[in-house]
Amino acid sequence: MRLTVLGKSPSWQDAGGACSGYLLEEDGFTVLMDCGNGVFSKLRRYRDYTRVDAVLISHLHADHFLDLVPYSYALTYSPRQQPVPVDRWPGTETPARPRLIAPPHARDVFRQIVGSWGSRDLIEKAFELEEYAAGSTPEVGPFRFRFCEVPHFQETYAIAVKSSNGGGNFVFGADSRPTEELVEFAQGADLLLIEATLPRPERDGERGHLTPREAGEHGRDSGVGRVVLTHISDELDHLWARKEAESVFDGPVEVAMEGAVYSL
Ligand SMILES: [Zn+2]
Repeated sequence: MRLTVLGKSPSWQDAGGACSGYLLEEDGFTVLMDCGNGVFSKLRRYRDYTRVDAVLISHLHADHFLDLVPYSYALTYSPRQQPVPVDRWPGTETPARPRLIAPPHARDVFRQIVGSWGSRDLIEKAFELEEYAAGSTPEVGPFRFRFCEVPHFQETYAIAVKSSNGGGNFVFGADSRPTEELVEFAQGADLLLIEATLPRPERDGERGHLTPREAGEHGRDSGVGRVVLTHISDELDHLWARKEAESVFDGPVEVAMEGAVYSL
């Protein structure tokens, strides 16, 4: 399988960047994992958005799903999706309607957001919406997904991906504070894509994110093959972040960059 980074910013975009968004591809199947603000534009740079088979969302924070709004508008109004011929496009009887595999209660949250300007069913009409549960194991083409709830400010799922074609074993940690749950869930993964949002732990209040060093510790304790740090701002020194993770993890560490491709 092939993983392409579309966006790796935390909850505010890097200059010219995008929030959480990753493409998984194998055997002609494409899954977009997370669709945060800025991701739809990046998706268009790399792939045809009508050829995405499924969008999978880790949790319902803006930086992980907000570009489902422009994506839904594109699927609804773009010339190529229309039933009749329009300039350059022949018209189609079968407009693309990708699956949208979203966390529990997503339908209500989407309705509230787009309903605030009167487009209540925009997202569920554009996509084939299904809500997963913690124990779900949805399949898309050769991909099989598993979930693990991780502690964040709201219900959030780390995602494990395996390919039935023998491709690698990949885990995305989503957003979380330090947690044994993720360490166990990621045991033996070839690649752990893990957030490294904070330069230092939160000073007070509930913890919700990791530092690069803590991300490295999760990689070490899970025995993964390599660690890719993500959800990290361009306002943090990436070299410093990598060194922090490398100080506790023996294997290769990288910081996610837009357009980076990982073969698993
Ligand atoms: Zn986030």
